[in-house]
Amino acid sequence: MTNTVTTFADLNLAEPLMRAINDSGYTHPTPVQAQAIPLVLKGGDLLAGAQTGTGKTAGFTLPILQRLSSNPAAHPRAGAPRCLILTPTRELAAQVEESVKTYGKYLALKSEVMFGGVNINPQIKALRSQIDILVATPGRLLDHVGQKTLDLSSVEILVLDEADRMLDMGFIRDIRKILALLPRQRQNLLFSATFSEEIKSLADGLLHNPGFVEVARRNTTSELVSQSVHMVAQKLKSHLLSHLIKLNDWKQVLVFTRTKHGANRLAEKLNSDGIPAAAIHGNKSQAARTKALSQFKDGTLPVLVATDIAARGLDIDMLPHVVNFELPNIPEDYVHRIGRTGRAGSNGSAISLVDSEELQHLKNIERLIKTQIPRVTIDSFVPPTHIPAEAPRPPRPQQGQKRHAPANRPQGQAAKPRNPGSSNSQGSKTPGQARPSSRPQAKPEPVKYLSEAARHQAMPQPALFSPKPPARRGK
Ligand code: AMP
Repeated sequence: MTNTVTTFADLNLAEPLMRAINDSGYTHPTPVQAQAIPLVLKGGDLLAGAQTGTGKTAGFTLPILQRLSSNPAAHPRAGAPRCLILTPTRELAAQVEESVKTYGKYLALKSEVMFGGVNINPQIKALRSQIDILVATPGRLLDHVGQKTLDLSSVEILVLDEADRMLDMGFIRDIRKILALLPRQRQNLLFSATFSEEIKSLADGLLHNPGFVEVARRNTTSELVSQSVHMVAQKLKSHLLSHLIKLNDWKQVLVFTRTKHGANRLAEKLNSDGIPAAAIHGNKSQAARTKALSQFKDGTLPVLVATDIAARGLDIDMLPHVVNFELPNIPEDYVHRIGRTGRAGSNGSAISLVDSEELQHLKNIERLIKTQIPRVTIDSFVPPTHIPAEAPRPPRPQQGQKRHAPANRPQGQAAKPRNPGSSNSQGSKTPGQARPSSRPQAKPEPVKYLSEAARHQAMPQPALFSPKPPARRGK
């Protein structure tokens, strides 16, 4: 799609919205905003390929606010929202509703957010008055439907935000139940970072003659994100991480672990090393998750340890450091993880602590991003001589076993970045090879060491989204 819109003034947004945009300090619409806003204002359905960080929230929120405020409800009723925005996680729901409030602050529209893990009674009370925009996670929304506290028969606009994540998290049945409760005549907007067969089939059934928008992830080139790998035995990782945090005096670092249990253990270990850290994952109460996130955002908590699921959709601006305590099984998740740093023009570092058992995952990632990530050693790191015995680790699922794997992507999409011919794993012995460990080591993969200059070479953007929209249906 060609796009000539370059300023917010070109988008024909109402004055109260322009004032709110101005207050937010935005000077220009992001690409997804420039493309999506005119389409949504026209009232048609939309299929958008955009991830967190692209400005997608304002891309749908601004035109929705405009449409709702310029067409007041014919028969406003308590507990019957006119716009329903579904998100996969509680954190994302809270962030989206915050954006609705921010951009709608000069309008008389009312919004609420509803998710599980918190007392339902205040939500029931809120539903006794009129709500224009409801942002919710699917489970709690259906709880309200079951309790007859919510009426979905007035929904004029439906948004599925991060639809691929919702499917990954097993929400498809809930989504279908919700769709069945909505009026047939409505506007549908579907946002997804990736485009699997499952998403295509959801889009086919949901969208009518949709407009299509696709944008690349914002600011994820390697000039902004410096990537490195430290080869280190699993049981030394927490020691190396403490060392790195102290050595570099890191003030804000998001650490990814593979399991909830691992996240807890690591946060405890960092705390015992005098580094304030909190774990954030699905077994934590909503109050604990919200508190950890807000302390991390305001800079009072330097380390947040998260699983991939918990970290989804988190909007943390200008994150300086991301650490992969374990590499993800799905190579695309690496790209998602490191996309959280180097945002908004600031530099960031993405450091992966890699045990020799993870070398195959590393190879798969490097194949996807078509870049060899430099191996780096920390000479000042002296591993402790006495390490308490580790609890047995859960077996590692093989790629594609646990979650909806990229194998389901449309043909041609995954094949390109995964070209095995791009592997460049031959070369000299790694200077940063794992230090001696008591665990039997798999035969180390020889890897090439890259110079400091090469660390900053451009990282090509892997194709995460199908270049083509699904077959369009007539109305
Ligand atoms: P999102 O992709 O919606 O999660 O937005 C990511 C971040 O971009 C948020 O912190 C927004 O405040 C910010 N943002 C959204 N639109 C713009 C814009 N036009 N200019 C600058 N920043 C923006």
